[in-house]
Amino acid sequence: VTLLGIDIGGTNARIAAVGDRGALLASRRVPTRGAGETLGALLELAETVLDGPPRAVGIGITGPVDAASGVVDNPHTLVGWPPTDVAAPFRERFGVPVAVDNDANAAALGEWWRGAGRGALRLAAITLGTGIGVGLLVGGRVQRGADGRHGEIGHHVLDPAGPECYCGARGCWESLAAGPALAHRAGGRDVARGVREGDPVALQAVAETARWIGLGLVNVGAFFMPDVVVLAGGVAEHFALMRPVIDEVLARHHRLVPTGFEVRQAETGDDAGAFGAAYAALRLAG
Ligand SMILES: [Zn+2]
Repeated sequence: VTLLGIDIGGTNARIAAVGDRGALLASRRVPTRGAGETLGALLELAETVLDGPPRAVGIGITGPVDAASGVVDNPHTLVGWPPTDVAAPFRERFGVPVAVDNDANAAALGEWWRGAGRGALRLAAITLGTGIGVGLLVGGRVQRGADGRHGEIGHHVLDPAGPECYCGARGCWESLAAGPALAHRAGGRDVARGVREGDPVALQAVAETARWIGLGLVNVGAFFMPDVVVLAGGVAEHFALMRPVIDEVLARHHRLVPTGFEVRQAETGDDAGAFGAAYAALRLAG
């Protein structure tokens, strides 16, 4: 049985054929462009990764997205996209059920199914990329807001005097701890290279970013009480350097929280979203 998993981000879109036990059979990537062009390219790529009709299709997309209707309405990170039903083209092409969710929820499902979140009862999966996306799972089930939509934990405010965010607030977690903040602190250096070469500015930028990641995790811990937190995305590639700083911040702020939680680096890498979308598809197909 083959599932089709799709992950549409603001920069790239991935499509993968995934077995029903989580084997990655084939995957491809295209740059994200306008809505029609991107969905058209993914439909074409679907034929190249599949060797037969899929049992179901799952799509994770940078939100806000209505998981029930499949309509994404996100002018912030999908620039130039009108409100778009992303499920319809795949449902029409393949005649199978199509699951749609926020990309952070898809990444959380991917890490729970195949990655560092395996076995977690309460999993917070945090993707630190261009922004910060958070997916919360309890017993492998996505936790949603009162209207079924996705909470924006990346936009909880850590510093009201902090940098302006496109959401209208100042000092959101993602404006302090995501990729652009790290790049800004590094002053245009290639951070990965700077870290390898021991450049003090790059090392300091990583440590400062880790401190803000840790502070945000203090709040995630207090409100959600996870047993496992998984960090994914480009910023999390510095996990080994960041971990001591994060642990120190957590230890200092979490004396009242009765249970600690473990912070792990994601294991499925860039495939988490596509894996998770495939898993959502598998569940939908039953
Ligand atoms: Zn914000």
